[in-house]
Amino acid sequence: MKILALNAGSSSLKFALFDMAVEDCRLVKAEFENFKDGHCVLHFRLGGENSDEQIRSEPLASIEEAIQCVPTLLQEWGYSQIDAIGHRVIHGGERFTKATLIDSEVLQYIQSCTPLAPLHNPANLAGITTSKKIWPSAPQIAVFDTAFHHSLPVAAYTYAIPSAWRKAGARRYGFHGISHQYVAMRTAQAWQSPIENLRIISCHLGNGSSLCAIENGTSVDTSMGMSPLTGLAMGTRSGDVDPGLFSYLSRQCGLDINTIEQQLYSDSGLKALGGSPDLRNLEQWAAQGNLDAQLAIEVYAYSARKYLGAFAAVLGGIDAVVFTGGIGENSATMRQRICDRLQVIGLEIDDARNRKVRLRAFEAPEIASSQSRVRIFVTKTCEQLMIAKEVLTAIEGSSALPHAVCQTRQGNLYE
Ligand code: ADP
Repeated sequence: MKILALNAGSSSLKFALFDMAVEDCRLVKAEFENFKDGHCVLHFRLGGENSDEQIRSEPLASIEEAIQCVPTLLQEWGYSQIDAIGHRVIHGGERFTKATLIDSEVLQYIQSCTPLAPLHNPANLAGITTSKKIWPSAPQIAVFDTAFHHSLPVAAYTYAIPSAWRKAGARRYGFHGISHQYVAMRTAQAWQSPIENLRIISCHLGNGSSLCAIENGTSVDTSMGMSPLTGLAMGTRSGDVDPGLFSYLSRQCGLDINTIEQQLYSDSGLKALGGSPDLRNLEQWAAQGNLDAQLAIEVYAYSARKYLGAFAAVLGGIDAVVFTGGIGENSATMRQRICDRLQVIGLEIDDARNRKVRLRAFEAPEIASSQSRVRIFVTKTCEQLMIAKEVLTAIEGSSALPHAVCQTRQGNLYE
């Protein structure tokens, strides 16, 4: 069975095609980004995890045009058959606890969640609508970033705010669920232990960053909240700020709510402090003595360290920590900086092992020292693969889908 995973964001479109019947099941991985002046950049890899990246320019002006172009590209690369499509949807509100076949009612509910994720859900919805036009007969399944966090205990998801606000949907939902679930499974597999026996803290550190406390394979707390704006400082998002900031900026600086929100999403975080959202730039500048870059790095590491400590308390101790996302996978110095002073909760990195990490494919190397009570892993997040697996599970569990597409079993890596 060939499953297409689509991740339509506000500024990029990622997609991957999987053949769920084989071990190294990825056939294609691609991303359109940097849309400018009627063109965009296409990065793609043909083949499994060890294939090389190719880059070219495409005459496409928008994400919608990019989606329209996917069937042509797949055909060019030798794939014309698609059996099902999985869509990453950022916010599934209180309702969706697992991947769900998209019908008009589901579509409407996702639409109703838009006020909770005004920057993300509209892009996801546009992706679904276009994809339904392109592949009208293929089952389309929504895989939610919030679904993994439905197991949060009530004390962890409740905000101490008036009841009318809570009734209006204000609570912690959490995000990056697809990634946290995948890396927790990968950690348990590397440990060769049932996930139910482990207390894991997953650190997804990318442009968007969040931590997740995982017990018995389920999420029990996470640093993002009602929106993906809170928690750690991020590339361009502020992370935690005092809610009093809104009224202060409104009264003192005459800013309206939309401007404040937009600046908290797009003009804050590493970009605001250090002049770039990209940690690679900041690390280079910091090494040259740039004080702003040094501060940005320290604020980022401090916020991650603080949540690690808090989640160790939530879990009553930790068995494993796993780093993933562009920063978590690639920056040895950031991993080291975050774990500084965390010997108190049993974490100690081995400097040589940490610096040696060069991730390939599904590897999950360990970087803890021999004295560390907690095992520490680094691994790539595979959100698209997880989407494809969730699609397969949804298809197999659904009587509403044609029998033919329900027949294939997943034979790939992380069942
Ligand atoms: P997204 O959340 O958009 O998926 P990624 O997970 O790809 O983002 O993470 C992107 C970030 O990872 C970049 O902005 C950059 O800061 C960081 N990054 C990527 N490679 C490196 C590296 N070699 N060293 C330090 N940081 C890196």
